Amino acid sequence: MSNINCSSVGIIGAGIQGVCIGLQLLKRNIPTTIFDRTEPGMMASYGNAGHFSPYAVLQLNRPDIMYDVPKMLMSSNGPLALKWNYIPKMLPWIFNYLKNCNKKSMLHTAKYMHQILNHSMDAYEEIFQEIDTTNLVDQKGIIYVWTNKNLKSRNLEIKTREDLGVKQKILTVKEILELEPNIKPVFTGGCFYDYAYHARDPHGITKKIFELFLKKGGKFINEDVKTLKQLNEKETVIKTEKKEYKFEKSVLACGAFSKKFTDQLGEKIPLETERGYHVHFKGMDNLIKRPIIFLDRGFGLTPMNQGLRAVGTVELGGLDNPPSKKRIQYIVNCAKELLPQLKQHQDEWLGFRPTLPDFLPVMGPSKNNKNIIYAFGHQHLGWTLGAITGKIVAGLLANEKTNLDLSPYSSSRFN
Ligand SMILES: Cc1cc2nc3c(=O)[nH]c(=O)nc-3n(C[C@H](O)[C@H](O)[C@H](O)COP(=O)(O)OP(=O)(O)OC[C@H]3O[C@@H](n4cnc5c(N)ncnc54)[C@H](O)[C@@H]3O)c2cc1C
Repeated sequence: MSNINCSSVGIIGAGIQGVCIGLQLLKRNIPTTIFDRTEPGMMASYGNAGHFSPYAVLQLNRPDIMYDVPKMLMSSNGPLALKWNYIPKMLPWIFNYLKNCNKKSMLHTAKYMHQILNHSMDAYEEIFQEIDTTNLVDQKGIIYVWTNKNLKSRNLEIKTREDLGVKQKILTVKEILELEPNIKPVFTGGCFYDYAYHARDPHGITKKIFELFLKKGGKFINEDVKTLKQLNEKETVIKTEKKEYKFEKSVLACGAFSKKFTDQLGEKIPLETERGYHVHFKGMDNLIKRPIIFLDRGFGLTPMNQGLRAVGTVELGGLDNPPSKKRIQYIVNCAKELLPQLKQHQDEWLGFRPTLPDFLPVMGPSKNNKNIIYAFGHQHLGWTLGAITGKIVAGLLANEKTNLDLSPYSSSRFN
């Protein structure tokens, strides 16, 4: 691929979105520099559940979930929790979220998540041909299990996926136990995506993609970015704690930390974080063959190189609150409910999912700064969507034509 449309790009953020965008820009012969204040892939892209979930079209802006939210919040022992000190700051997001919890918005989100999820694995396959994924990626499918407590919600999910043509296999308890004999049958049914892949080490994969980016001539600057501005038609400026750097175009790919910059650019984008946790049970990854998600509990288990990763829950509480011991205990309890043989856990981790109230990402130019492109807000699916986001955003920067309808991802929907 060659390009004459753009002379240089600076990307803020070396999470999975940032490194995939960087790689795609180099493939278009556009000189690219990525900035990060930590080493690449150390935030949300580090500790996620590692699922590549092209089937996960239905998000959390749903009328059925909305009615359960108050009940869930009152229970300290459920999949959803609040840091009460953060609620006043989160009210605009909460109101906007409630506005999106109707059937029409739910189906709009599902349609446009499906549009990009549908291309997500082809985009990764291209990258996997260029990096060594031995011991990093498995294709053994992903299982979801549930109890009969929220069957109305389960039926809605199954039907929406069916309507969008997503492949799924509904399983009985017996069939689930044939696949995963070690788990305790505390569920009443489930679903199997037998074609799904999972990462055995998300950080290891991000690192490999980043190394490929460097090998192809990409640059990395390990500094904390303070401001982002567009100076004129041909110049954007990224200012770090140390220095100012100029590029023709810049990309904002800071995940949950992107709001600081959109505020600077004068756009009111209601980006918030859904905090999630993980722990590892070292040496226990061979108890299951593939990831299992317990939907009623909002948690899952993934066999990884670091051990069996127990991961999940949603905590609304912003970026600055300390981790909650109760959330960790909740995940540990859920893990032991499915696998009572588990003992002591290690590596307690808190991560920040970047989420907009309509659960669609923002991908596209800033409203008033056409040479600054946004690429954040991929919520629970940012790991799955990294490679396709790379292609979409690099395509935008290179002024390529696309068959995708990108208007639903524009930040202008909030202005
Ligand atoms: C518990 C949990 C489980 C998940 N499970 C899955 C899953 O199974 N499948 C799935 O598809 N998705 C999953 N996700 C979601 C997914 O991990 C995220 O959506 C995705 O990693 C976001 O990637 P990102 O590149 O946008 O952000 P991040 O990975 O957070 O990267 C942002 C980068 O920006 C950098 N940065 C921020 N501010 C600055 C600054 N001022 N200067 C310099 N650098 C800065 C940060 O250091 C960071 O490296 C999960 C998330 C969590 C928390």
